[in-house]
Amino acid sequence: MPRPLRAHVDLAAIAANLAVLRAHAGGARLMAVAKADAYGHGLMRCLPALAAADGLALLEIEQALRVREAGFAGTVLLLEGAFDDAELALCAERALAVVVHDARQLERLERARLPRPVHAWLKLNSGMNRLGFRPDAFVSARSALEGHPNVASLVLMTHFAAAETPGGVAAPLAEFERACAGSRAPRSCANSAALLRHPATRVQWVRPGIAVYGATPFDDRDAASLGLRPAMTLASEVIAVQELRPGEAVGYGGGFVADRPMRAGIVACGYADGYPRHAPTGTPVVVAGTPTRTLGRVSMDMLAVDLTGLPDAGVGTAVELWGRAQPVDAVARAAGTVGYELLCALAPRVPVSVSPAAA
Ligand SMILES: *Cc1c(COP(=O)(O)O)cnc(C)c1O
Repeated sequence: MPRPLRAHVDLAAIAANLAVLRAHAGGARLMAVAKADAYGHGLMRCLPALAAADGLALLEIEQALRVREAGFAGTVLLLEGAFDDAELALCAERALAVVVHDARQLERLERARLPRPVHAWLKLNSGMNRLGFRPDAFVSARSALEGHPNVASLVLMTHFAAAETPGGVAAPLAEFERACAGSRAPRSCANSAALLRHPATRVQWVRPGIAVYGATPFDDRDAASLGLRPAMTLASEVIAVQELRPGEAVGYGGGFVADRPMRAGIVACGYADGYPRHAPTGTPVVVAGTPTRTLGRVSMDMLAVDLTGLPDAGVGTAVELWGRAQPVDAVARAAGTVGYELLCALAPRVPVSVSPAAA
C-alpha cells in the first residue's frame, strides 16, 4: 500500500463556485484567476471546469500557451504583462492579453513591431503601490493606447489592497472611476473579496481567484456561508498511535506535554507535503469525521493529532487535514496565514486525484 497521503481536486466544486460567482457578477464577464498553478490545484487538471469562465488570468506565458493549445478560446491575460519584446510578439500572435503596468511596458508596446495588434489591459495603481500607473500617467497612457495601431482592444483595470474590509474599496474605486472618466473602454477591478462584498466593483470584467477554489477571502465570513465549496481535500491516515503518560511530550522540541493519560495519532503529512510547520498545538483537524486538534510541532513528514476522545481511532483511521469537513481557512487562521498560502503550497510529492465536473 502506498503512503496514505492524498490530495483530491473536485472539479464539480469549481464548477459550482463559478456559478455562484457568476450570479454575483450580474452581467459582468468572469475571469477566473488561475495563477500559481490554479492556486495549487493544477491548472491543466482544472481546465475542464475553469473553461466555463470567460477568461483566465495567469502569470507565465508557458501556462498561457498551454491553455491555448488545450483549446481554451476565451481571454487569457498575463497579470504581470510581457517581460520582453519576444514575449509581447508571441502574445500578439497567440491572442494573449497583456497587462501594461509601467512606462517600460508602455514604451515597448508603442514601439513594437508586432505580427498583429495585441489585447492590452492598462493598470492603475489605486493605492496598493504594487503594480500600475499613478492616475496622471494612467490617463496619458490611456490616450496613447486608445486607437494605437498595436492595440487590438483596451481594458482599464486596477487591483484593491483591502477589498476584504467593509470600507476597503471606496477611495480606490473613486480613484479608478476618475482615472477612467471619459473612456468607453471596458473596466475591471473586482477580486473575490470585492465581487462578494462590494457590488459597485462589478463592472465589465470581474477577476475572482480564491473563491473559485472554494476558500474565503475574508476573516469574518467562512466559505460555506458564501455558498462556496472547497475544491481541494488533503487527506491521510493515522500510521502509528502513542499512549502518553502525564508529563510525556510529543514531537521535536517536546513542545506539547500531556497533562493526563492521552492518545496521540501520528499522521502521514508534514511540512514537506505543504502542511504549515508553524501550525501550533490546537490547529483543527478532522479524524474519522470528528473534529480534534494537532499536538506539538509539525515535522517534515508527520504530525500528531489528539485521539484522546476518539477511542475507536487507530492505525488506518482517516484524517482530513483540510477539505469539506475541515475548512482550509480555519487551519490557515490557526497557523497565522491565509487559505491561499496553504492551497498554493501543496507539495509536488503529494499524489492528486481528480473527480470530473459533470455529476
Ligand atoms: C490574484 C489576483 C486576483 C485574484 O485575487 P483573489 O483574492 O484570489 O480573488 C485578481 N486580480 C489580480 C490583479 C490578482 O493579482
